[in-house]
Amino acid sequence: MQKITKEDNYDVIIVGGGNTALLTAIRAQEVGAEKILILEKAPKTERGGNGYFTTGLYRVVHSGTKELAELMPTMTEEEREMEFAPYTADEFFSDYMIGNDGLGDESMMQMIVEESNAAIRWMIKNGIEFETGSGSMMRVGGKLVHVGRLAVQCKGAGAGLSDTLYKMIEKKGIELHYETAARKLLTDDTGRIMGVKIQGNKAVQEVKSKSVVLACGGFESSPSMRAQYLGKDWDLCLVRGGRHNTGDGLNMAMDVGAQPYGNWSGCHAIFIDAESPQPARREDGEKTSKRIYIFGLVVNSRGERFVDEGEDDITMTYSRYGQHALKQAGRIAFQIFDSTGNDIINAMPVDDYVGAPYTKADTITELADMLAIDEETLVKTVEDYNNAIEPGGSLEYHKFLGLPHDQQALSITPPKSGNAFALNKPPYYAYAVSCGITFTYGGLKVSKRGEVLNQLDKPIPGLYAAGETVGGLFYTNYPGATGLTAGAIFAKIVGANAIEDNK
Ligand SMILES: Cc1cc2nc3c(=O)[nH]c(=O)nc-3n(C[C@H](O)[C@H](O)[C@H](O)COP(=O)(O)OP(=O)(O)OC[C@H]3O[C@@H](n4cnc5c(N)ncnc54)[C@H](O)[C@@H]3O)c2cc1C
Repeated sequence: MQKITKEDNYDVIIVGGGNTALLTAIRAQEVGAEKILILEKAPKTERGGNGYFTTGLYRVVHSGTKELAELMPTMTEEEREMEFAPYTADEFFSDYMIGNDGLGDESMMQMIVEESNAAIRWMIKNGIEFETGSGSMMRVGGKLVHVGRLAVQCKGAGAGLSDTLYKMIEKKGIELHYETAARKLLTDDTGRIMGVKIQGNKAVQEVKSKSVVLACGGFESSPSMRAQYLGKDWDLCLVRGGRHNTGDGLNMAMDVGAQPYGNWSGCHAIFIDAESPQPARREDGEKTSKRIYIFGLVVNSRGERFVDEGEDDITMTYSRYGQHALKQAGRIAFQIFDSTGNDIINAMPVDDYVGAPYTKADTITELADMLAIDEETLVKTVEDYNNAIEPGGSLEYHKFLGLPHDQQALSITPPKSGNAFALNKPPYYAYAVSCGITFTYGGLKVSKRGEVLNQLDKPIPGLYAAGETVGGLFYTNYPGATGLTAGAIFAKIVGANAIEDNK
Protein backbone atom coordinates (compact mmCIF):
# COMPACT_ATOMS: atom_id res chain seq x y z
CA MET A 1 0.00 0.00 0.00
CA GLN A 2 1.34 3.44 -0.91
CA LYS A 3 2.34 5.75 1.94
CA ILE A 4 0.58 9.05 2.41
CA THR A 5 3.14 11.88 2.36
CA LYS A 6 3.14 15.50 3.52
CA GLU A 7 3.28 16.61 -0.11
CA ASP A 8 0.12 14.77 -1.12
CA ASN A 9 -2.89 16.98 -1.76
CA TYR A 10 -6.03 15.01 -2.55
CA ASP A 11 -9.02 16.20 -4.55
CA VAL A 12 -11.15 14.55 -1.91
CA ILE A 13 -10.70 12.51 1.23
CA ILE A 14 -13.63 10.20 1.90
CA VAL A 15 -13.97 9.13 5.52
CA GLY A 16 -15.51 5.67 5.82
CA GLY A 17 -15.37 2.33 4.05
CA GLY A 18 -19.06 1.47 3.84
CA ASN A 19 -21.34 1.37 0.81
CA THR A 20 -21.87 5.14 0.85
CA ALA A 21 -18.17 5.98 1.02
CA LEU A 22 -17.19 3.63 -1.81
CA LEU A 23 -20.01 4.82 -4.07
CA THR A 24 -18.94 8.41 -3.33
CA ALA A 25 -15.42 7.58 -4.50
CA ILE A 26 -16.75 5.97 -7.69
CA ARG A 27 -18.85 9.06 -8.40
CA ALA A 28 -15.92 11.44 -7.65
CA GLN A 29 -13.74 9.61 -10.17
CA GLU A 30 -16.59 9.59 -12.69
CA VAL A 31 -16.75 13.42 -12.61
CA GLY A 32 -13.01 13.78 -13.00
CA ALA A 33 -11.28 13.50 -9.61
CA GLU A 34 -7.76 12.18 -10.04
CA LYS A 35 -6.54 11.93 -6.49
CA ILE A 36 -9.00 10.30 -4.12
CA LEU A 37 -8.25 8.90 -0.68
CA ILE A 38 -10.59 6.57 1.20
CA LEU A 39 -10.01 6.09 4.92
CA GLU A 40 -11.47 2.95 6.50
CA LYS A 41 -11.05 2.78 10.26
CA ALA A 42 -11.76 -0.96 10.34
CA PRO A 43 -9.19 -3.62 9.50
CA LYS A 44 -9.66 -5.32 6.12
CA THR A 45 -11.39 -8.27 7.80
CA GLU A 46 -14.09 -5.95 9.15
CA ARG A 47 -14.37 -3.54 6.24
CA GLY A 48 -17.62 -2.41 4.73
CA GLY A 49 -19.50 -0.92 7.69
CA ASN A 50 -23.06 -1.87 8.49
CA GLY A 51 -23.79 -2.27 4.80
CA TYR A 52 -21.91 -5.59 4.91
CA PHE A 53 -24.43 -7.04 7.41
CA THR A 54 -27.52 -6.20 5.37
CA THR A 55 -29.89 -8.25 3.26
CA GLY A 56 -29.11 -5.63 0.63
CA LEU A 57 -32.71 -4.54 0.11
CA TYR A 58 -33.28 -1.14 -1.51
CA ARG A 59 -36.56 0.78 -1.29
CA VAL A 60 -37.09 2.11 -4.78
CA VAL A 61 -39.92 3.72 -6.72
CA HIS A 62 -40.78 1.53 -9.72
CA SER A 63 -43.60 0.94 -12.14
CA GLY A 64 -44.02 -2.80 -11.65
CA THR A 65 -42.85 -6.08 -13.14
CA LYS A 66 -41.82 -4.78 -16.56
CA GLU A 67 -39.46 -2.16 -15.17
CA LEU A 68 -38.14 -4.48 -12.46
CA ALA A 69 -37.30 -7.07 -15.11
CA GLU A 70 -35.37 -4.39 -16.96
CA LEU A 71 -33.45 -3.39 -13.81
CA MET A 72 -32.89 -7.02 -12.82
CA PRO A 73 -32.37 -9.04 -16.01
CA THR A 74 -31.76 -12.25 -14.03
CA MET A 75 -35.43 -12.22 -12.99
CA THR A 76 -36.85 -15.64 -13.80
CA GLU A 77 -40.05 -16.32 -15.73
CA GLU A 78 -41.65 -17.57 -12.50
CA GLU A 79 -40.71 -14.34 -10.70
CA ARG A 80 -42.12 -12.28 -13.56
CA GLU A 81 -45.38 -14.17 -13.23
CA MET A 82 -45.72 -13.03 -9.62
CA GLU A 83 -46.72 -9.61 -10.96
CA PHE A 84 -45.08 -7.01 -8.74
CA ALA A 85 -47.39 -4.08 -8.08
CA PRO A 86 -45.88 -0.68 -8.91
CA TYR A 87 -44.39 1.24 -5.97
CA THR A 88 -45.21 4.85 -6.60
CA ALA A 89 -43.49 7.99 -5.34
CA ASP A 90 -46.67 8.84 -3.41
CA GLU A 91 -46.64 5.44 -1.70
CA PHE A 92 -42.96 5.73 -0.79
CA PHE A 93 -43.49 9.25 0.53
CA SER A 94 -46.50 8.23 2.56
CA ASP A 95 -44.61 5.19 3.98
CA TYR A 96 -41.79 7.60 4.82
CA MET A 97 -44.14 9.93 6.69
CA ILE A 98 -45.98 7.18 8.61
CA GLY A 99 -44.78 7.02 12.18
CA ASN A 100 -42.50 10.01 11.75
CA ASP A 101 -45.09 12.05 13.62
CA GLY A 102 -45.03 14.82 11.05
CA LEU A 103 -41.40 15.47 11.95
CA GLY A 104 -38.63 15.51 9.40
CA ASP A 105 -37.45 17.61 6.55
CA GLU A 106 -40.14 16.92 3.97
CA SER A 107 -38.15 18.33 1.09
CA MET A 108 -35.21 16.08 1.97
CA MET A 109 -37.53 13.08 2.26
CA GLN A 110 -39.08 14.00 -1.09
CA MET A 111 -35.61 14.05 -2.62
CA ILE A 112 -34.87 10.53 -1.33
CA VAL A 113 -38.13 9.28 -2.83
CA GLU A 114 -37.67 11.04 -6.17
CA GLU A 115 -34.02 10.10 -6.64
CA SER A 116 -34.36 6.46 -5.56
CA ASN A 117 -34.93 5.03 -9.03
CA ALA A 118 -32.16 7.13 -10.65
CA ALA A 119 -29.69 6.10 -7.93
CA ILE A 120 -30.27 2.40 -8.61
CA ARG A 121 -29.96 2.96 -12.34
CA TRP A 122 -26.67 4.81 -11.78
CA MET A 123 -25.37 1.89 -9.67
CA ILE A 124 -26.38 -0.55 -12.41
CA LYS A 125 -24.61 1.58 -15.01
CA ASN A 126 -21.52 1.26 -12.86
CA GLY A 127 -21.70 -2.52 -12.84
CA ILE A 128 -23.60 -3.30 -9.64
CA GLU A 129 -26.15 -6.04 -10.11
CA PHE A 130 -29.56 -6.36 -8.51
CA GLU A 131 -31.89 -9.33 -8.31
CA THR A 132 -35.44 -9.93 -7.17
CA GLY A 133 -35.23 -9.79 -3.41
CA SER A 134 -34.96 -13.30 -2.02
CA GLY A 135 -35.78 -11.45 1.18
CA SER A 136 -39.17 -10.55 -0.22
CA MET A 137 -40.47 -13.77 -1.80
CA MET A 138 -41.60 -17.09 -0.44
CA ARG A 139 -43.00 -20.32 -1.76
CA VAL A 140 -46.52 -21.15 -0.59
CA GLY A 141 -48.00 -24.46 -1.71
CA GLY A 142 -45.35 -24.69 -4.42
CA LYS A 143 -46.16 -21.20 -5.73
CA LEU A 144 -43.79 -18.24 -5.45
CA VAL A 145 -45.40 -15.19 -3.82
CA HIS A 146 -44.16 -11.67 -3.18
CA VAL A 147 -44.19 -10.71 0.50
CA GLY A 148 -44.36 -7.07 1.56
CA ARG A 149 -43.44 -4.01 -0.46
CA LEU A 150 -39.77 -4.49 -1.30
CA ALA A 151 -38.53 -6.06 -4.51
CA VAL A 152 -35.00 -4.82 -5.25
CA GLN A 153 -31.99 -6.46 -3.64
CA CYS A 154 -28.32 -6.25 -4.56
CA LYS A 155 -26.71 -9.46 -5.74
CA GLY A 156 -25.13 -11.40 -2.89
CA ALA A 157 -26.88 -9.21 -0.28
CA GLY A 158 -24.81 -6.71 1.73
CA ALA A 159 -21.67 -8.85 1.71
CA GLY A 160 -21.91 -9.21 -2.07
CA LEU A 161 -22.39 -5.47 -2.50
CA SER A 162 -19.43 -4.68 -0.26
CA ASP A 163 -17.12 -7.17 -1.98
CA THR A 164 -18.15 -5.88 -5.42
CA LEU A 165 -17.55 -2.26 -4.42
CA TYR A 166 -14.12 -3.04 -2.94
CA LYS A 167 -13.14 -4.87 -6.13
CA MET A 168 -14.25 -1.86 -8.18
CA ILE A 169 -12.27 0.57 -6.01
CA GLU A 170 -9.17 -1.58 -6.45
CA LYS A 171 -9.69 -1.88 -10.20
CA LYS A 172 -10.17 1.86 -10.55
CA GLY A 173 -6.88 2.43 -8.71
CA ILE A 174 -8.49 4.48 -5.95
CA GLU A 175 -6.25 4.77 -2.89
CA LEU A 176 -7.69 3.19 0.25
CA HIS A 177 -6.16 2.70 3.68
CA TYR A 178 -7.47 0.24 6.27
CA GLU A 179 -7.07 0.71 10.00
CA THR A 180 -6.79 4.41 9.35
CA ALA A 181 -9.23 6.63 11.18
CA ALA A 182 -10.00 10.27 10.59
CA ARG A 183 -9.53 12.03 13.91
CA LYS A 184 -9.81 15.76 13.20
CA LEU A 185 -10.76 18.11 10.38
CA LEU A 186 -8.11 20.66 9.41
CA THR A 187 -9.21 24.20 8.55
CA ASP A 188 -7.53 27.40 7.43
CA ASP A 189 -8.10 30.82 9.04
CA THR A 190 -11.34 31.30 7.10
CA GLY A 191 -12.82 28.02 8.30
CA ARG A 192 -12.33 26.26 4.93
CA ILE A 193 -11.59 22.55 5.23
CA MET A 194 -7.97 21.82 4.29
CA GLY A 195 -7.69 18.12 5.09
CA VAL A 196 -7.85 15.57 7.85
CA LYS A 197 -5.68 14.47 10.76
CA ILE A 198 -5.53 10.71 10.55
CA GLN A 199 -4.50 7.95 12.89
CA GLY A 200 -3.08 4.78 11.42
CA ASN A 201 -1.46 1.80 13.10
CA LYS A 202 1.84 3.47 13.66
CA ALA A 203 1.41 7.14 12.95
CA VAL A 204 -0.73 10.19 13.39
CA GLN A 205 -0.40 12.61 10.48
CA GLU A 206 -2.06 15.51 8.73
CA VAL A 207 -3.24 14.94 5.15
CA LYS A 208 -4.19 17.76 2.78
CA SER A 209 -7.24 17.76 0.52
CA LYS A 210 -9.50 20.18 -1.34
CA SER A 211 -12.61 18.61 0.12
CA VAL A 212 -13.65 16.02 2.68
CA VAL A 213 -16.71 13.78 2.60
CA LEU A 214 -17.81 12.29 5.91
CA ALA A 215 -19.48 8.93 5.21
CA CYS A 216 -18.62 7.27 8.50
CA GLY A 217 -22.03 6.45 9.94
CA GLY A 218 -23.59 7.49 13.22
CA PHE A 219 -22.79 6.72 16.87
CA GLU A 220 -24.57 3.39 17.40
CA SER A 221 -21.36 1.63 18.41
CA SER A 222 -20.37 4.12 21.09
CA PRO A 223 -21.93 3.16 24.46
CA SER A 224 -21.05 6.55 25.95
CA MET A 225 -22.64 8.55 23.11
CA ARG A 226 -25.68 6.25 23.18
CA ALA A 227 -26.15 6.94 26.88
CA GLN A 228 -25.51 10.64 26.34
CA TYR A 229 -27.97 11.16 23.47
CA LEU A 230 -30.42 8.24 23.45
CA GLY A 231 -30.75 8.11 27.22
CA LYS A 232 -30.86 5.73 30.13
CA ASP A 233 -29.87 2.10 29.51
CA TRP A 234 -28.96 2.62 25.87
CA ASP A 235 -25.33 1.94 26.74
CA LEU A 236 -26.55 -1.57 27.63
CA CYS A 237 -28.30 -2.46 24.38
CA LEU A 238 -26.94 -4.95 21.86
CA VAL A 239 -25.45 -3.74 18.56
CA ARG A 240 -26.51 -5.37 15.27
CA GLY A 241 -23.75 -4.17 12.99
CA GLY A 242 -20.06 -3.30 13.01
CA ARG A 243 -18.19 -1.83 15.96
CA HIS A 244 -16.57 1.15 14.24
CA ASN A 245 -19.36 3.71 13.91
CA THR A 246 -18.59 5.62 17.08
CA GLY A 247 -19.72 9.10 16.07
CA ASP A 248 -16.25 10.28 14.99
CA GLY A 249 -17.45 12.13 11.91
CA LEU A 250 -20.21 13.87 13.87
CA ASN A 251 -17.84 15.01 16.63
CA MET A 252 -15.15 16.15 14.17
CA ALA A 253 -17.66 18.17 12.18
CA MET A 254 -19.28 19.74 15.23
CA ASP A 255 -15.78 20.73 16.40
CA VAL A 256 -15.49 22.91 13.29
CA GLY A 257 -18.96 24.43 13.71
CA ALA A 258 -21.25 21.95 11.91
CA GLN A 259 -24.88 22.00 12.93
CA PRO A 260 -26.27 18.87 14.59
CA TYR A 261 -29.63 17.99 13.05
CA GLY A 262 -32.46 15.52 13.26
CA ASN A 263 -33.52 13.30 16.12
CA TRP A 264 -30.46 12.81 18.35
CA SER A 265 -32.49 10.86 20.89
CA GLY A 266 -33.84 8.50 18.24
CA CYS A 267 -32.49 5.38 16.62
CA HIS A 268 -33.37 2.31 14.61
CA ALA A 269 -33.54 -0.64 17.00
CA ILE A 270 -35.21 -4.01 16.57
CA PHE A 271 -35.85 -7.25 18.44
CA ILE A 272 -32.80 -9.50 18.19
CA ASP A 273 -31.75 -12.75 19.89
CA ALA A 274 -31.19 -12.03 23.56
CA GLU A 275 -27.96 -14.02 23.32
CA SER A 276 -26.62 -12.33 20.17
CA PRO A 277 -22.82 -12.42 20.12
CA GLN A 278 -21.16 -9.05 20.67
CA PRO A 279 -19.54 -7.59 18.69
CA ALA A 280 -21.92 -8.88 16.02
CA ARG A 281 -20.40 -11.53 13.73
CA ARG A 282 -20.28 -10.55 10.08
CA GLU A 283 -21.07 -14.10 8.99
CA ASP A 284 -24.36 -13.89 10.93
CA GLY A 285 -25.58 -11.01 8.77
CA GLU A 286 -29.19 -10.54 9.81
CA LYS A 287 -29.60 -14.00 11.39
CA THR A 288 -29.99 -12.62 14.93
CA SER A 289 -32.90 -10.38 13.82
CA LYS A 290 -36.33 -11.45 15.04
CA ARG A 291 -38.73 -9.49 12.85
CA ILE A 292 -41.70 -11.72 12.16
CA TYR A 293 -43.55 -11.15 15.46
CA ILE A 294 -46.61 -10.30 13.34
CA PHE A 295 -47.53 -14.03 13.43
CA GLY A 296 -47.46 -14.25 17.22
CA LEU A 297 -47.45 -12.27 20.44
CA VAL A 298 -44.62 -10.48 22.24
CA VAL A 299 -44.62 -10.59 26.04
CA ASN A 300 -42.30 -9.56 28.86
CA SER A 301 -41.24 -11.72 31.78
CA ARG A 302 -44.43 -10.75 33.61
CA GLY A 303 -46.39 -12.32 30.75
CA GLU A 304 -47.77 -8.99 29.52
CA ARG A 305 -47.88 -7.72 25.94
CA PHE A 306 -46.43 -4.27 25.24
CA VAL A 307 -46.56 -3.65 21.45
CA ASP A 308 -49.18 -3.92 18.71
CA GLU A 309 -47.67 -6.82 16.78
CA GLY A 310 -50.07 -6.28 13.84
CA GLU A 311 -49.98 -2.52 13.55
CA ASP A 312 -48.66 -2.54 9.99
CA ASP A 313 -46.39 -4.33 7.53
CA ILE A 314 -43.28 -5.49 9.43
CA THR A 315 -41.01 -3.12 7.50
CA MET A 316 -43.01 -0.23 8.95
CA THR A 317 -42.85 -1.26 12.62
CA TYR A 318 -39.75 -3.38 13.28
CA SER A 319 -37.35 -0.45 13.70
CA ARG A 320 -39.54 1.12 16.41
CA TYR A 321 -40.17 -1.98 18.49
CA GLY A 322 -36.67 -2.88 19.69
CA GLN A 323 -36.59 0.08 22.06
CA HIS A 324 -39.55 -1.41 23.97
CA ALA A 325 -37.52 -4.52 24.82
CA LEU A 326 -34.93 -2.26 26.47
CA LYS A 327 -37.63 -0.98 28.83
CA GLN A 328 -38.74 -4.44 30.02
CA ALA A 329 -37.35 -6.07 33.17
CA GLY A 330 -33.93 -7.57 32.43
CA ARG A 331 -34.12 -5.98 28.94
CA ILE A 332 -35.71 -9.21 27.79
CA ALA A 333 -38.93 -10.19 26.01
CA PHE A 334 -40.34 -13.33 24.39
CA GLN A 335 -41.89 -13.74 20.96
CA ILE A 336 -44.49 -16.49 21.33
CA PHE A 337 -45.97 -18.55 18.49
CA ASP A 338 -48.19 -21.56 18.24
CA SER A 339 -47.32 -24.32 15.78
CA THR A 340 -49.11 -22.52 12.90
CA GLY A 341 -47.18 -19.31 13.53
CA ASN A 342 -43.92 -21.16 14.05
CA ASP A 343 -44.26 -23.01 10.74
CA ILE A 344 -44.82 -19.69 8.98
CA ILE A 345 -41.90 -17.81 10.52
CA ASN A 346 -39.58 -20.64 9.63
CA ALA A 347 -40.80 -20.63 6.02
CA MET A 348 -40.42 -16.87 5.61
CA PRO A 349 -37.83 -15.64 3.11
CA VAL A 350 -35.58 -14.19 5.82
CA ASP A 351 -33.72 -16.68 7.99
CA ASP A 352 -34.40 -14.88 11.28
CA TYR A 353 -35.76 -17.98 13.02
CA VAL A 354 -33.96 -20.77 11.20
CA GLY A 355 -31.58 -22.37 13.70
CA ALA A 356 -32.36 -19.75 16.36
CA PRO A 357 -32.54 -20.82 20.01
CA TYR A 358 -36.13 -21.38 21.25
CA THR A 359 -38.12 -22.91 24.07
CA LYS A 360 -40.92 -25.34 23.18
CA ALA A 361 -43.82 -26.58 25.30
CA ASP A 362 -47.17 -28.36 24.88
CA THR A 363 -49.13 -25.83 26.88
CA ILE A 364 -48.88 -22.10 27.59
CA THR A 365 -48.60 -22.88 31.32
CA GLU A 366 -45.64 -25.16 30.71
CA LEU A 367 -44.05 -22.57 28.42
CA ALA A 368 -44.42 -19.90 31.12
CA ASP A 369 -42.87 -22.23 33.64
CA MET A 370 -39.89 -22.98 31.43
CA LEU A 371 -39.30 -19.26 30.77
CA ALA A 372 -39.84 -18.23 34.41
CA ILE A 373 -42.75 -16.03 33.29
CA ASP A 374 -45.71 -15.46 35.59
CA GLU A 375 -47.97 -18.40 34.55
CA GLU A 376 -51.34 -16.95 35.38
CA THR A 377 -50.64 -13.70 33.59
CA LEU A 378 -49.33 -15.37 30.44
CA VAL A 379 -52.30 -17.73 30.23
CA LYS A 380 -54.65 -14.76 30.69
CA THR A 381 -52.77 -12.69 28.09
CA VAL A 382 -53.15 -15.45 25.49
CA GLU A 383 -56.81 -16.14 26.41
CA ASP A 384 -57.74 -12.45 26.34
CA TYR A 385 -56.11 -12.14 22.95
CA ASN A 386 -57.84 -15.23 21.52
CA ASN A 387 -61.20 -14.02 22.84
CA ALA A 388 -60.73 -10.51 21.45
CA ILE A 389 -60.30 -11.61 17.83
CA GLU A 390 -62.93 -10.11 15.54
CA PRO A 391 -63.26 -9.38 11.83
CA GLY A 392 -61.36 -6.40 10.38
CA GLY A 393 -57.84 -4.96 10.14
CA SER A 394 -56.66 -6.57 6.94
CA LEU A 395 -52.91 -6.92 6.44
CA GLU A 396 -51.58 -8.56 3.34
CA TYR A 397 -49.62 -11.37 4.92
CA HIS A 398 -52.26 -13.93 5.73
CA LYS A 399 -53.99 -13.63 2.41
CA PHE A 400 -51.73 -16.00 0.56
CA LEU A 401 -50.93 -18.18 3.55
CA GLY A 402 -54.50 -19.41 3.73
CA LEU A 403 -54.95 -17.86 7.19
CA PRO A 404 -57.70 -15.45 8.17
CA HIS A 405 -56.11 -12.20 7.07
CA ASP A 406 -58.95 -9.89 7.93
CA GLN A 407 -58.97 -10.21 11.71
CA GLN A 408 -57.98 -7.88 14.52
CA ALA A 409 -58.03 -7.77 18.31
CA LEU A 410 -58.84 -4.22 19.29
CA SER A 411 -60.43 -4.66 22.71
CA ILE A 412 -57.17 -5.61 24.43
CA THR A 413 -54.33 -3.27 25.45
CA PRO A 414 -52.24 -2.85 23.43
CA PRO A 415 -54.46 -3.96 20.54
CA LYS A 416 -53.31 -6.27 17.78
CA SER A 417 -54.71 -4.26 14.92
CA GLY A 418 -54.12 -6.70 12.12
CA ASN A 419 -53.04 -10.28 11.43
CA ALA A 420 -54.81 -11.56 14.52
CA PHE A 421 -55.44 -15.30 14.45
CA ALA A 422 -55.89 -17.51 17.46
CA LEU A 423 -52.79 -18.75 19.24
CA ASN A 424 -54.15 -22.17 20.17
CA LYS A 425 -52.36 -24.93 18.25
CA PRO A 426 -49.72 -26.67 20.33
CA PRO A 427 -46.83 -26.99 20.60
CA TYR A 428 -45.95 -23.43 21.55
CA TYR A 429 -42.61 -21.78 20.88
CA ALA A 430 -40.85 -18.82 22.51
CA TYR A 431 -37.84 -16.90 21.20
CA ALA A 432 -36.03 -14.74 23.78
CA VAL A 433 -35.25 -11.30 22.38
CA SER A 434 -33.64 -8.08 23.48
CA CYS A 435 -33.02 -4.67 21.93
CA GLY A 436 -30.47 -4.46 19.10
CA ILE A 437 -29.54 -1.03 17.80
CA THR A 438 -28.99 -0.69 14.06
CA PHE A 439 -28.12 2.97 13.60
CA THR A 440 -28.75 6.41 15.06
CA TYR A 441 -31.00 9.07 13.51
CA GLY A 442 -29.22 12.23 14.70
CA GLY A 443 -26.55 13.59 12.38
CA LEU A 444 -25.30 16.67 10.60
CA LYS A 445 -27.40 19.22 8.81
CA VAL A 446 -26.63 19.18 5.10
CA SER A 447 -27.94 21.04 2.08
CA LYS A 448 -29.54 19.09 -0.75
CA ARG A 449 -26.11 19.30 -2.39
CA GLY A 450 -24.63 17.39 0.55
CA GLU A 451 -22.73 20.39 1.92
CA VAL A 452 -22.40 20.35 5.69
CA LEU A 453 -24.06 23.45 7.11
CA ASN A 454 -22.92 25.57 10.02
CA GLN A 455 -25.12 26.98 12.78
CA LEU A 456 -26.20 29.78 10.43
CA ASP A 457 -27.26 27.28 7.75
CA LYS A 458 -24.27 28.26 5.57
CA PRO A 459 -22.07 25.58 3.95
CA ILE A 460 -18.72 24.92 5.61
CA PRO A 461 -16.48 25.25 2.55
CA GLY A 462 -14.97 21.92 1.53
CA LEU A 463 -17.04 19.76 3.90
CA TYR A 464 -19.72 17.27 2.75
CA ALA A 465 -21.58 14.40 4.40
CA ALA A 466 -23.40 11.34 3.11
CA GLY A 467 -25.17 8.22 4.36
CA GLU A 468 -25.90 7.86 8.03
CA THR A 469 -23.69 10.78 9.02
CA VAL A 470 -26.53 12.94 7.67
CA GLY A 471 -29.21 13.94 10.18
CA GLY A 472 -32.90 14.61 9.62
CA LEU A 473 -33.67 11.69 7.32
CA PHE A 474 -35.52 9.65 9.95
CA TYR A 475 -37.20 10.73 13.16
CA THR A 476 -39.37 8.22 14.97
CA ASN A 477 -39.69 5.62 12.26
CA TYR A 478 -37.75 4.18 9.36
CA PRO A 479 -39.33 2.57 6.32
CA GLY A 480 -37.22 -0.59 5.94
CA ALA A 481 -34.54 -0.56 3.23
CA THR A 482 -34.31 3.23 2.94
CA GLY A 483 -30.78 3.39 4.44
CA LEU A 484 -28.95 1.85 1.48
CA THR A 485 -31.07 3.88 -0.93
CA ALA A 486 -30.35 7.16 0.90
CA GLY A 487 -26.64 6.27 1.00
CA ALA A 488 -26.53 5.74 -2.76
CA ILE A 489 -28.43 8.95 -3.46
CA PHE A 490 -26.14 11.06 -1.30
CA ALA A 491 -23.03 9.34 -2.65
CA LYS A 492 -24.08 10.30 -6.17
CA ILE A 493 -24.69 13.91 -5.12
CA VAL A 494 -21.67 14.58 -2.89
CA GLY A 495 -19.24 12.59 -5.00
CA ALA A 496 -19.94 15.07 -7.79
CA ASN A 497 -20.25 18.28 -5.76
CA ALA A 498 -17.13 17.69 -3.65
CA ILE A 499 -15.16 17.69 -6.90
CA GLU A 500 -17.06 20.16 -9.08
CA ASP A 501 -17.18 22.84 -6.36
CA ASN A 502 -13.38 22.92 -6.43
CA LYS A 503 -12.80 22.97 -10.18
C1 LIG B 1 -27.94 -6.05 10.44
C2 LIG B 1 -28.30 -4.87 9.56
C3 LIG B 1 -29.15 -5.04 8.47
C4 LIG B 1 -29.52 -3.97 7.65
N1 LIG B 1 -30.31 -4.20 6.54
C5 LIG B 1 -30.56 -3.19 5.66
C6 LIG B 1 -31.21 -3.41 4.41
O1 LIG B 1 -31.52 -4.54 4.01
N2 LIG B 1 -31.47 -2.33 3.62
C7 LIG B 1 -31.09 -1.06 3.99
O2 LIG B 1 -31.37 -0.11 3.26
N3 LIG B 1 -30.41 -0.84 5.14
C8 LIG B 1 -30.12 -1.87 5.97
N4 LIG B 1 -29.39 -1.62 7.11
C9 LIG B 1 -28.90 -0.25 7.35
C10 LIG B 1 -27.67 -0.03 6.45
O3 LIG B 1 -26.66 -0.89 6.84
C11 LIG B 1 -27.20 1.40 6.53
O4 LIG B 1 -28.28 2.25 6.18
C12 LIG B 1 -26.05 1.67 5.58
O5 LIG B 1 -25.07 0.68 5.67
C13 LIG B 1 -25.43 3.03 5.90
O6 LIG B 1 -24.34 3.21 5.07
P1 LIG B 1 -23.12 4.13 5.48
O7 LIG B 1 -22.13 3.95 4.39
O8 LIG B 1 -23.62 5.49 5.81
O9 LIG B 1 -22.58 3.53 6.85
P2 LIG B 1 -21.78 2.16 7.09
O10 LIG B 1 -22.13 1.16 6.05
O11 LIG B 1 -22.01 1.75 8.49
O12 LIG B 1 -20.24 2.58 6.90
C14 LIG B 1 -19.61 3.45 7.83
C15 LIG B 1 -18.11 3.27 7.65
O13 LIG B 1 -17.39 4.30 8.33
C16 LIG B 1 -16.22 3.74 8.93
N5 LIG B 1 -15.76 4.67 9.97
C17 LIG B 1 -16.35 5.02 11.13
N6 LIG B 1 -15.61 5.95 11.78
C18 LIG B 1 -14.53 6.21 11.00
C19 LIG B 1 -13.40 7.06 11.10
N7 LIG B 1 -13.19 7.86 12.16
N8 LIG B 1 -12.47 7.07 10.10
C20 LIG B 1 -12.61 6.25 9.01
N9 LIG B 1 -13.65 5.41 8.87
C21 LIG B 1 -14.61 5.39 9.84
C22 LIG B 1 -16.70 2.38 9.40
O14 LIG B 1 -15.64 1.50 9.65
C23 LIG B 1 -17.56 1.96 8.19
O15 LIG B 1 -16.76 1.38 7.20
C24 LIG B 1 -29.02 -2.67 7.94
C25 LIG B 1 -28.12 -2.49 9.03
C26 LIG B 1 -27.77 -3.57 9.82
C27 LIG B 1 -26.79 -3.37 10.96
